[in-house]
Amino acid sequence: FSALLEQDPDIAGLLVSELDRQRAGIQLIASENQTSPAVLAALGSTLSNKYAEGYPDARYYGGCAEVDKVEKLAIERAKELFGADHANVQPHSGASANQAVYGAFASPGDTILAMSLDHGGHLTHGFKVSFSGKWFNAVHYGVAQDTEDIDYDQVEALAKEHRPRIILAGGSAIPRLIDFERFRAIADEVGAIFWVDAAHFIGLVAGKVIPSPVPHADIVSFTTHKVLRGPRGGAIVCKEEHAKKIDRAVFPMMQGGPLMHGVAGKAVNFAECMTPAYQAYAQQVLDNAAALAGALDAHDIRPITGGTDTHLSLHDLRGVGVTGRDAEARCDAAGIVLNKNAIPFDPEKPNVASGIRVGSPSVTTQGMGTEQMGTIADLIHRAVTETDGDPEHPVAREIRAQVGELVTSYPAYPEPAAG
Ligand code: PLP
Repeated sequence: FSALLEQDPDIAGLLVSELDRQRAGIQLIASENQTSPAVLAALGSTLSNKYAEGYPDARYYGGCAEVDKVEKLAIERAKELFGADHANVQPHSGASANQAVYGAFASPGDTILAMSLDHGGHLTHGFKVSFSGKWFNAVHYGVAQDTEDIDYDQVEALAKEHRPRIILAGGSAIPRLIDFERFRAIADEVGAIFWVDAAHFIGLVAGKVIPSPVPHADIVSFTTHKVLRGPRGGAIVCKEEHAKKIDRAVFPMMQGGPLMHGVAGKAVNFAECMTPAYQAYAQQVLDNAAALAGALDAHDIRPITGGTDTHLSLHDLRGVGVTGRDAEARCDAAGIVLNKNAIPFDPEKPNVASGIRVGSPSVTTQGMGTEQMGTIADLIHRAVTETDGDPEHPVAREIRAQVGELVTSYPAYPEPAAG
């Protein structure tokens, strides 16, 4: 860091400001986490210099002996962690991983069946502004109005009607476990590839606290930076029969040279995930998410589906008469970072939204437990109902002081003890 500070104080200063920001607030973005210093060290390494197009022992560049070892370790660890036949650790991100899965199994114009974005899916699941919506004929299922959980009967009916090439399960705002067996049966009935985008919950699978999609799905794609707590990036695991197709789709179909510093960071993270400490972390993530959802519910900020089985919950703010957009701004001004989110059948436009999404990965990494989730719910409720988005509002100041006390007791990236 001293070299950066000397050469480019502007960027160095911004890195410090961002670390300060991450330390100062309560971080409840469900897709974020605080990766370990060991992963950060891998990311900031000279592996970033190396071109390594291809795969271990079959590269298009010389000098790959060391990075081959890195990638082999990452692949072996991913296979062991998820009990998978095959792993590709090269996707630069979750969206790149998804692009490769489409590339492997579908051609432009093919039909895919996925969860709609406004019910909890993801942009890359056939939303019209994404490549996936432009290149494929995307048909979408959603949640049932009464349970607010995936409408499996609708999935089956749409699959039979449209005979998709791919059936995709997973998304960005799904608080409940997904019934992989049911999806598998539906996919088999219509002869479709069954793909799970496990970006959000794969860390809970790694920690063995929720069921794994790996035995059921043809393909599982994921990001490595959410609950999993690794570097920003993507990966794919699959059955042996699909291995060659997936590898060829990642490179050379969709990507060029892999980011070897990221691959090293993934290897470090996969090893971390196989420790008892990580399994305990994953369980605490679940406990904290349930506690936070329950405590917000007690304040009339209702969790969609009535609660959560995962690291995130989605809340309907209509009980307190505030929009998602206002709630996000009010919480932000009070030192609580979360995001507005459309809820199923939302009467508001997506940029206003009736809901918020909260997640427990970051606060759990900081060592908080269920008791602190009660405190956080109280602070969210006060910020949402008693402030107006002005950071100088007296109640916002008061909440920020309480946030400060909490994050001082449970710091992000604690300073090493002096001496
Ligand atoms: N898939 C799902 C379900 C996601 O939630 C996300 C990101 O939030 C992605 C894919 C895309 O990941 P990335 O932002 O790394 O491209």
